[in-house]
Amino acid sequence: MLKNKTALVTGSTSGIGLGIAKSLAAQGAHLILNGFGDASGPMAEVKAAASAAGHDIQVLFHAADMSQPHQIADMMAFATAQRGQVDILVNNAGIQYVAPVQDFPNEKWDAILAINLSSAFHTTKLALPAMLKANWGRIINVASAHGLVGSAEKAAYVAAKHGIVGLTKVVALETATSGVTCNAICPGWVLTPLVQKQVDARAAANHWTNAQATQELLAEKEPSLQFTTPEELGALTVFFCSPGANNTRGVAWAMDGGWTAQ
Ligand code: NAD
Repeated sequence: MLKNKTALVTGSTSGIGLGIAKSLAAQGAHLILNGFGDASGPMAEVKAAASAAGHDIQVLFHAADMSQPHQIADMMAFATAQRGQVDILVNNAGIQYVAPVQDFPNEKWDAILAINLSSAFHTTKLALPAMLKANWGRIINVASAHGLVGSAEKAAYVAAKHGIVGLTKVVALETATSGVTCNAICPGWVLTPLVQKQVDARAAANHWTNAQATQELLAEKEPSLQFTTPEELGALTVFFCSPGANNTRGVAWAMDGGWTAQ
């Protein structure tokens, strides 16, 4: 379905971003990955996901630090030089830090706002002109249930995720009469390194096993008592890229096991 399209997924060396990249690759899109760490494993996984579906795609990587606007500009210029343009932009890179407001380190606030929110402004600003010229484009922002509701001790994360839901709505309105759409995905708990750290912290604080801490984490917020998976989030991303979603604009789509239905 996405043959000859180019998708750029930020923060795709791990977790949700990698899952989304694999789902897009399985639809035949060329991929530009981004993130920290050794990219050779993730690049091979994405290539394999495409091959398994009968597609021979190009997989590229750019290591831009998404907290740095000049590195983001370099990544977008790289994408244009290598692939002509970005057709599908998935703003996914994100970090977490947990502390009460009065103890929240200023540098953590700045980093979370820069990576989880401002980076999406910078990539969108740079990707949009070519999408509008082609009259086709998909911008998908990975927000969170925390883009819709709050939780204690997550001031920066909740502020950034509410912010990216707002950015999604504005970009959707500004592109509403074009073939470009912008939507947000709001996952509940997904068992990635970002969440495993929170499970580990609960286990340590309460002298629980990993299984007990996992159970408590789910029970506190997620009525389904199940993690959302990167594959499910990839399937929603593919839907947003499909013709069936041509007029789906500015939504913040929860995939959270009922978290925000409460
Ligand atoms: P993860 O830690 O597994 O992956 C994060 C990715 O972002 C990695 O590839 C990492 O290298 C990259 N990254 C981090 N800082 C970066 C930076 N400065 N520049 C470039 N890349 C950077 O986390 P995840 O759980 O897959 O999270 C992905 C997104 O999903 C985040 O935006 C997160 O807020 C969101 N999310 C996660 C959950 C969850 O339960 N895991 C729930 C809702 C939303």
